[in-house]
Amino acid sequence: MLILTEQEKAIAASIAEMKSKAGSHSPSVFTLFENLPELRVKIDACYLSNPYATELFLNFLRRELIDTGRLRDFLEFYPSQNQVIASALEEHLDVPTGKIFVGNGAAEIIQAVIHNFTTKKILVNIPTFSSYYEFAKDDVQVLYFKLDKDNNFRLDIDSYLQTIKREKPDTVVLINPNNPDGGYIGFAEIQHLLEELREVDNIIIDESFIHFSFEERVNKFRSALELSRHFNNLIIIKSMSKDFGIAGIRAGYAVMSEAKVNYLLKNGYLWNVSGLAQYFFNLYAREEFSREYEKVRVQYVQEAQTFFKNLSKIPSIKVYPSMANFALVELIDGSRAADFFIKMLVQHHIYTRSCSDKIGLDGQFVRIAARTKGENQAIINAINSIYSLPLEYDYEVAMQAA
Ligand SMILES: *Cc1c(COP(=O)(O)O)cnc(C)c1O
Repeated sequence: MLILTEQEKAIAASIAEMKSKAGSHSPSVFTLFENLPELRVKIDACYLSNPYATELFLNFLRRELIDTGRLRDFLEFYPSQNQVIASALEEHLDVPTGKIFVGNGAAEIIQAVIHNFTTKKILVNIPTFSSYYEFAKDDVQVLYFKLDKDNNFRLDIDSYLQTIKREKPDTVVLINPNNPDGGYIGFAEIQHLLEELREVDNIIIDESFIHFSFEERVNKFRSALELSRHFNNLIIIKSMSKDFGIAGIRAGYAVMSEAKVNYLLKNGYLWNVSGLAQYFFNLYAREEFSREYEKVRVQYVQEAQTFFKNLSKIPSIKVYPSMANFALVELIDGSRAADFFIKMLVQHHIYTRSCSDKIGLDGQFVRIAARTKGENQAIINAINSIYSLPLEYDYEVAMQAA
């Protein structure tokens, strides 16, 4: 079991204070550095993004905007309006512009959708991404559907459908794959759910992590986007922050009925997307970028799956099956998640996410993101080290990863 030293306890106390100020999301690495300059973060395994994709975007940005001097235009002038940017996505997504709404990150879209279309009752699976219940207005009832850890947090479709028929929420939220457990709902199940739930006003499917999932082969994911023309109540929300590694530019989009898009646009959101995000959306729709992105996507997904397999060989922890780019890890030796977090940070400069604040998680859980191949190996070595596992064990994991 992990036990903190006096020095680690002191650092834990300062971080706890910072966390109470950051609300329900982890303080960023920037905040951490500013407040505790003696702490270095070498690997940010809290932050959920594909580092290879960030590199790819940066290459395009450098070549096309910085080296050419065009960056100035993106800073000086207004970006296009919402529907103009949406029209750039029409062909790529194979969805008419009128059904596309672009947002200043998916967080803005979640807020817009929940504030405008959820009037009575919202059903959220737990554990979940907290915005879905935090953004609900005071007079909206939030209902939780608990994902069972004994069932690896998989959604039990029958019991879920029964709950909806009984409770009649006007909005239901499915995050696929789910944050923070990585649980995945297969395409056929999604289709079945949509057919059964025609009477629900808003079915939100958050596909922010869909690019990390796959059905039969690693190089093929299935998005609910292809069902959007058949289900008028379907609202697909997609953040670009994680799979493209560009949280800083704030880019997300949603696909929903034309009536809903028009309703939102009547209420504002005219220039809600920045010039840099507009540049990204145009890039995303370009064949040349897509081809390059596909390479770094598949590479990252393969490495992430190998990482999860190697993590699950470490005794003292249980790794839940994940189709996302992070793994939910349960400390099954009686250690506290907060102590795991501190030891990884202080001894190995690795930033993980303790999930002790997540509702619906009973037990001691941390979430660990997949990074580059080398960083993944360093994370495994660090966990072995804080648990003082023998070197032979380290060696075996390293060999299997090779
Ligand atoms: C991170 C995240 C978001 C928000 O993404 P932004 O586009 O950065 O606002 C939305 N949904 C889920 C499930 C997330 O994990």
